[in-house]
Amino acid sequence: MEILAYPHPTLRHKSKPLRKVDAELKQLVREMFELMYANKGIGLAANQVDLPLRFFILNVAGKKGEGDEMVFLNPVISFPKGSEEAEEGCLSLPGLYGNVIRPKQVRVNAYSLEGKEFIADVTGLMGRCIQHETDHLDGVLFTDRMNPTARTDIAYDLHEFETAFESRRSTGGIPTDEQIAARLAEFETKYS
Ligand code: ZN
Repeated sequence: MEILAYPHPTLRHKSKPLRKVDAELKQLVREMFELMYANKGIGLAANQVDLPLRFFILNVAGKKGEGDEMVFLNPVISFPKGSEEAEEGCLSLPGLYGNVIRPKQVRVNAYSLEGKEFIADVTGLMGRCIQHETDHLDGVLFTDRMNPTARTDIAYDLHEFETAFESRRSTGGIPTDEQIAARLAEFETKYS
């Protein structure tokens, strides 16, 4: 398992609701937490590790053994309130940061790995992270939500990511679009 960097096509995958959780999926979640901590992240969406599944993980403490490890299956966001601008980053765009305006508070409905539904009104870092990760599941990156001026400022950085991706792909380090799509379809058949 590895974290995919922009512009990997799976980052644009819009995932369908998960219909089952099995031992293999629980093991994948465990691996995702390890990978997230190793990369100093606080949230990670399934499609960032090439899984077309509708869930993300979160621990705003960002360290193993600290804070709460949360898994959000089939998250739905509603009741946006207010608006707040803050800087964001993403494990799929390492080293890149930018300001994004998002609702200050949202309600999130989701299911735990055990199948229990939970509902919370979230604000602050937790609220922002939940919105950022839910965006991933719809194939949306934080850079898509930056204002046009801020996006112009990062255009060169995005181009560098694109060049690195093409170079890695040309040397066989990344499968073709067709191979990626076939693998995603296999996972979707199993879980969605
Ligand atoms: Zn992200």
